[in-house]
Amino acid sequence: MGRPDPNLKESILSYLKANHTSIWRHWFDDIEPLEVTNGTLRLLVTEPVRLRYLRRCGLDPFRSAAQAATGRLLAVRFVGEGELGEDPVKGGDPRQRDRFQADDDMILSPDYSFDNFIVGPNNRLAHAAAFAVTEKPGKAYNPLFIHGGVGLGKTHLLQGICQATMHHNGGMRVYFVSCSGFMEQFHDAVRAGEMTSFRHRFRDVDLLVVDDIHDLSQHDRAQEEFFHTFNTLHQSGRQVVLSSDAPPSEITDLKERLTSRFNCGLVARIDKPCFETRVEIVRSKASLRGLELPDDVASYIGAKVDTNIRELEGAITQLQNLAAVSGSDISLELAKKAIGDHAPMVGGHHPTIQQIIDAVTRYYDVKLSDLLSKRRNKSIALPRQVGMWLARKHTRYSLEEIGGFFGGRDLTTVMHAIKAINRKREGDALLDGDVSRLENELVDHHVAPGMGE
Ligand code: ADP
Ligand code: MG
Repeated sequence: MGRPDPNLKESILSYLKANHTSIWRHWFDDIEPLEVTNGTLRLLVTEPVRLRYLRRCGLDPFRSAAQAATGRLLAVRFVGEGELGEDPVKGGDPRQRDRFQADDDMILSPDYSFDNFIVGPNNRLAHAAAFAVTEKPGKAYNPLFIHGGVGLGKTHLLQGICQATMHHNGGMRVYFVSCSGFMEQFHDAVRAGEMTSFRHRFRDVDLLVVDDIHDLSQHDRAQEEFFHTFNTLHQSGRQVVLSSDAPPSEITDLKERLTSRFNCGLVARIDKPCFETRVEIVRSKASLRGLELPDDVASYIGAKVDTNIRELEGAITQLQNLAAVSGSDISLELAKKAIGDHAPMVGGHHPTIQQIIDAVTRYYDVKLSDLLSKRRNKSIALPRQVGMWLARKHTRYSLEEIGGFFGGRDLTTVMHAIKAINRKREGDALLDGDVSRLENELVDHHVAPGMGE
């Protein structure tokens, strides 16, 4: 019990930097270790978006860091400023906890802020419109509809809108959800006969942001429900922001009345970034990770990786890993080694997401279209969960991205899948064996990591 060693923060941060390269962010510096009580180290995180994010995604790495730093079996708890005065043993004011739990399904990535969004010719209009919407929600463009190819920054921009809106208008009720999240909640509510609370959740907000709205395609009942949600909000001047992989009129099997609603505000497209923008994005991503990249390295990565922006981040991780493993400074030479055509893989063989999906469909004899569909019967849901688990363990993709690859599922679904497989493996030797066999098969195939979608 008592206040932690003043060096604890340093040790935790350097452990994370060394062992969890891809999650370390410069703002981890702002996290303050408080006291250790009953084997739990409390960490103060003052910024609400970061707090919520760490609670959902940061527990495991911070726990290992705290244990490595202290040599003790500690648990870790992230607390906000509002919970500072509370009794750490009891875990604080239940209302406080409920408020956070109620918001739990809305996790925003602290990376996806306006500050971290690089504006270029490819996204200037979309960015300007996003900015205008946060200045005058419900008044500037309603709805704002942003479309573009995969990995071009739609989710980033949408979450930026949410974060800026919450920041500037403290009282505003903001709700961010993926379209698949909306549909899952809809189906659950129908099944449980809880439509009233479902409707409150989506209609009693000032800003509703729905990511990947093209997923409504072919889902007639969800379209119907969304139509009414949209009208309720729109008619009372509340803001709706949507993203999609295609403009409204090109979304297949979308009812005409929805298409016309989506078209009635501003439709903005995001294109692929040009070389200069890519280089700037590389610099920004690197500095988020506390990494100074020499100019020639940033340019090299920007030139080398031109598929989509997600891959740029992967390249930075690879470079960072190689630098750590080889103990050398980041240089052009090292960058060529890390991501050049003949780059060896760091830390063993990494399968691509495609190889994982192929292996899972083959092993379980399920169709790809089923694996990526919304179907939730066990014969498909289990292979899908195994696939997400494997992707989490063996690729460098984030939870959001893994959800994207597995049929546009959101972060909570992926987290749920990973937890479920961890739990089931412990009690189910058969499943455990299946997963191990799949893992062996995948890491034996030595191919460069996920350049494909
Ligand atoms: P989409 O939703 O369009 O598939 P995301 O928003 O998930 O794409 O973006 C993929 C990755 O690229 C994210 O890490 C995001 O931060 C990054 N990214 C995309 N556009 C930009 C940008 N203009 N500036 C900084 N990062 C960007
Ligand atoms: Mg997205």
